[in-house]
Amino acid sequence: MIKSIAVFCGSSEGYDKVYMKAAREAGATLATRKIELIYGGSKAGLMGAIADGVLENGGIVTGVIPGFLKTVEIVHTGITELVTVGNMHERKLKMHELSDAVITMPGGWGTMEEFFEMLTWGQLGLHRKPIGLLNVNGYYDSLAALNKSMVTEGFLKENTANMLLISNNINDLLYQMEHYTAPEIPEWLTRQTT
Ligand code: AMP
Repeated sequence: MIKSIAVFCGSSEGYDKVYMKAAREAGATLATRKIELIYGGSKAGLMGAIADGVLENGGIVTGVIPGFLKTVEIVHTGITELVTVGNMHERKLKMHELSDAVITMPGGWGTMEEFFEMLTWGQLGLHRKPIGLLNVNGYYDSLAALNKSMVTEGFLKENTANMLLISNNINDLLYQMEHYTAPEIPEWLTRQTT
């Protein structure tokens, strides 16, 4: 059962209002389903919108932010708990430790970096969490296409590619995530090498 989800998303709002609206609605859905939000602790952009969506609906929000970003990203002061960490690496690790699953919503490089690190940790068998991509407004159509090209061009195994769950609907994505089983990891990775 998924009790907490780390959400990676943009610190920007995007030009189309559909992105902020989707983030707020995703937050409301998490709160309604009693799933705690773990996120980067900012009140800017989609990050702020999803936190507000959870809080407005009586849910729990834990923010994880490195000390040096506290001013740049404008900390959300209304969240349930704010955890301050030393750097970006510690932030990702802490968000990982606190969450049962991961969702990525539209965002920029920071969002992508966090998303791909979680995917690659999963690929290596370092965790078995479901990872969902909430494809708001077709924003990630090109990424989904790239994922397919990686398989057809021989740079990504098909069952690994299938670890990434994609939907344009938060409830459908959560359904897929709740029914997800991680693939068995290759034998060479089960040795104490990771
Ligand atoms: P962005 O998608 O670029 O708006 O950034 C969204 C989140 O990713 C914010 O919480 C940023 O602090 C974080 N972020 C930005 N750059 C990086 C990076 N190089 N490594 C890890 N996280 C980052």
